[in-house]
This record gives sequence, C-alpha cells and structure tokens, in this order.
Amino acid sequence: MLYSKLVGKTSRDRPRSVRSRGQELLRRGGFIAPLAQGLYSFLPLGYRVVQRITDLVRSEMRALDGQEVLLPVVNPLELWNRSGRESILGRDMIRFRDASSRAMVLAPTHEEAMVELVKSMIGSYRDLPLFLYQFQTKYRNELRPRGGLLRTREFVMNDGYSFHRSFTDLNNFLPKVYAAYERILKSCRVPFLTAEAAVGAMMGDRSFEFLMPFDGGDDTVITCPGCSYAANREVAVGTVAVDSGAPKPTATVHVGDVVSIAEVAAKIGVPTSRLGKTMIYSCEAGIVFAVVRGDQMVSEEKLARVLNVAAVRRADSQELSFLGIDPLVASPLGLPSDLLALDGGIRTVVDTVVAESSNLVFAANEPEVRYVNVNFGRDYDGEIVADISQVGGGARCVDCNTPLVLQRVIELAHVFRLGDYYSRRLRLTLTDSNKRRFNPLMGAYGIGIGRLMAATAEANNDRRGLNWPHHLAPFRVYLAGIGRSPRVARGVEAIHDELADCLLDDRMVSISTKFRDADLIGVPYRVIVARRFEDDGEVEILTRGSTRVIRAHASQIASAIEQIAGSLS
Ligand SMILES: [Zn+2]
Repeated sequence: MLYSKLVGKTSRDRPRSVRSRGQELLRRGGFIAPLAQGLYSFLPLGYRVVQRITDLVRSEMRALDGQEVLLPVVNPLELWNRSGRESILGRDMIRFRDASSRAMVLAPTHEEAMVELVKSMIGSYRDLPLFLYQFQTKYRNELRPRGGLLRTREFVMNDGYSFHRSFTDLNNFLPKVYAAYERILKSCRVPFLTAEAAVGAMMGDRSFEFLMPFDGGDDTVITCPGCSYAANREVAVGTVAVDSGAPKPTATVHVGDVVSIAEVAAKIGVPTSRLGKTMIYSCEAGIVFAVVRGDQMVSEEKLARVLNVAAVRRADSQELSFLGIDPLVASPLGLPSDLLALDGGIRTVVDTVVAESSNLVFAANEPEVRYVNVNFGRDYDGEIVADISQVGGGARCVDCNTPLVLQRVIELAHVFRLGDYYSRRLRLTLTDSNKRRFNPLMGAYGIGIGRLMAATAEANNDRRGLNWPHHLAPFRVYLAGIGRSPRVARGVEAIHDELADCLLDDRMVSISTKFRDADLIGVPYRVIVARRFEDDGEVEILTRGSTRVIRAHASQIASAIEQIAGSLS
C-alpha cells in the first residue's frame, strides 16, 4: 500500500470535540472520521484494525464451538411485543413502518430474532447446547452520545447466544465465554476488571461485565480494596453509617423558594445526608415514590427488582400534572389521601438507610416548607422498605468493612444469564429424553468491536502516538527510503513488492515528517532504506517503542522481523 494513495491523512491538530488521548490519536492518525454525532466512518487504516480485532474475537468464538450467523438488523416489532421488551426499550430503539406498513424496529440486540431462528431450525434436545454468534451492526438511539468511538450510536457488536438443556449446562458454559473475553482483552493489552452488573433491559437474572478504568467513562464500578468485591454502581451493595438517635418532635421550617437538596440543606444548616429525598418513577405497577437519603441516588435496577417489574423510568411531566404532584416537594409525608386512594394508588418504597435514620428533614408536598425530625413509622409509612440506593462515597464493604472505592469505567463486554425468559415468552420448546416439553435456558454475550478498538487505542499509546499490539496494527511494516538515489528507490520498491502487509511512505516530505507519522500511526516495524543500502544491501529495522536499530540484508527483512517479534514475545 502506498501512503500517498491512502484515504485518511495524519494531522497535527487535536480535533476540538475530542476528550481523550486515544480518540485524539485515532482521529489524527486517520483511522476514523466523524459523520455526525455518535456516527463514525472507519477509514482504511481503522478498518484494517477492526478486521484484525474481528479475527481475534472470531477465533475465540470458534474455539467455543460457536457457529457464525448473520441475522437481519431490521426486526418485526411484533417480536418485541411478544418478548415484553417493546415498552422497556422505549426511545432507545428506532421504530418505523416498512413499505407494506408493517411495524418494524432496528434491533439493538437479537435475543428475540435468535429464538425465532432456533425455533425454526432445532427440534431436538440433542441439538443442545448450541452457541450462535454474529458480527452485527447495532443502532442505539442515545440522546447524547459522547466519548467518540467509545460510545457511538451505531456500532458493530459481536453478540453471541447460547441455548442449554439445564442450568448446570448453562452455568458451565458462562465461565468459558468469560475466559474467552479475558483472553481477548489481554491480547488487546487493555486493562480491565470484572464486576457484577445490572441486567437492565436484557432481562434474565444475573450479569457480569468487563470494564476498563477510564476517567471519561459513563459507568461507575464499586470495588473493595480489602476483598475481591466488585460490582456496578447500579447493583453494588455497601453499608453506610446511620444516625439513629431517639426521635424528636417534628417541627416546620420555612425555606423560601430554594428547592435543591444542597440548597435546602445549606439553608437549614445540616449536611445533605440529613435529608430525605423522594424521586418519582413510573412502571407497570403504577406511580412509585422512591425515598432515598439526600446524599444518595436511586438505583433503578434495585428499585425494579424490589417492585418485581421489568424496568422503571422517571415519571414524565404529564403523569405528574395528572396526579397534581409537584416533584420539587414530593414526599410520602403529607401525601393527599385522594392520591393514595387512586386506582392502584401511589406505591412508596423507602430505602433501608432512610427507614433506619432518625430525625431527617423531609418535604411534605407543600411549597417553601420542610419538616425536621421526621421519622419512618411515626410520621410516614412505606409499602416496601428495601435497599434501593446506589452505593456512594463513605460506604463500606458488607463482607469486610473496608471503605469501598468508586471508579469511573467504560463497559467493554457483557455476559448475561438469561434463563428461560425469552424461550418461555417466545414459546421455544423442545422435548427432553423423557418426552417432556421444556424451554431451553439461554445466555447472551456481547463485545463491541469499535469500542474495543477505541479502548485498545486508549490503553496503548505514548507521547509520539499509537502503539498497537503488533497483531492488531493496521500494517506490520512501515517502509521508507532516504535520499533520491535511484538504487535506493529501486530497493524500496523491491522490498514493497516482497513484503506482505507493508505501508510504503512514498510522499515527497522530509524524513522527520515520515518518522513522526509512522510513530503516530503505530506501525510496529519501521524499515528504512538509506545510503548504506547502496554499499552492502543492508536496511535498518526499528521497532515501535524501542530505540534499538537492527541491521539486516534487504533479502532477510521478513525473517529478521520474525526474530525481533520472537524476542519481544
Ligand atoms: Zn471487602
């Protein structure tokens, strides 16, 4: 490949919207180009890396006896109605009508379609276990995608789906995928940790994710330095100190027009942890008041589990105005009795920490007033008391009492134990050896290819540019000649013809510019043909990230590189 012909040139300027070093280098190196917010094109260099990562992932999926398939990205909406996920995915899923007015979706994940496929293809329990995977374009209609290639709306995902006769079989398979993901991430030299995670809209009962520590990440993982505990913030548990003194008589305080938790706390002169906070949610069980401490956040995952519903979402303004609730002073305290008497009523879930705390400050559905010394059981009640809060600062490990650590991360891969959620709802049944019908148990697995490339770039760079793991680099060899001697030029051409996987920098620019670009792109081996070649036919070989220069005869380049590679591994 001639650099002069390559689409996508290097640039010295840091693109304006870029927030991380890896993103900067991918843009400046000419690997990717933005088309619109959350949408990126892969340029030739970038797509070569994508293909190598794809090959790496594919070899691991094959080693798990996986069979590669490719399902349509467009699915009938009706499938999603049957699985019960149509309403849960909400705006994230693009819906449209096809030419014959049939309701369709751009599937953000393929559990439904996979079950339909297996239903039509598999008749016997003897065909299980079965593992199918694909490399498929997904589109998630996120409102504000940020983080460049680390969080895009459209992306290629390697998603796998396994079908099993028993939980034993499923539980034995999950660690194998887990180990495959570990090998893939190690091969990309990406630092990662694994943690228990939220199930979210994927349903099922347990999930684990592979996370890369990253300051700009949109997820938070809670880890314990004292033991091996690690969990996503949505599901993490921890203990917090609770002030549980003797209840005092309630009193009212006028706070004027301040409304935020921080402002109210400052006005009254208490920390935010002395306030109760009511968040209003909507779900299939109706309107829910979720009460947490002022310094804590509601875990929607925990709240949904407690209510035994698929998902919860914040109540919208229409629902609030219908009920006549002012969300700024919403509270289980002083809730009008006609609201409680509504069909289904308002359900109140009180976080354990709030229920155990004495003398908190609460709003009471009245503007400009707060009540102090409010106590659960005496002043207000809740239908459910449970852990519904996210672990925050100051929490300690449930197991070993060590202070927990919060870390920003980005999700790289996910393993879900789905059980029979989809096979039951979509009526996938097989007959076992005793002629009994059963719903196969499923697992689902996903690893984003573009995101993995972005994470690899994030984890493998230095001040000069990208430093790809050698098997993932867009080219193995970067070739350039120094000087204008015709013999050097002929030598360069011959080497270019001889070597596979070689990028020849044929531009009429200074050698320092060429070297700078070679470092930026991160090609592992740099072969330089200079004056000396005319004397003894030798070239210089430099390895990215090392200052050592190896000399080799032009006819021995491939074997010399093999030798260097061998000494590095
Ligand atoms: Zn611990």
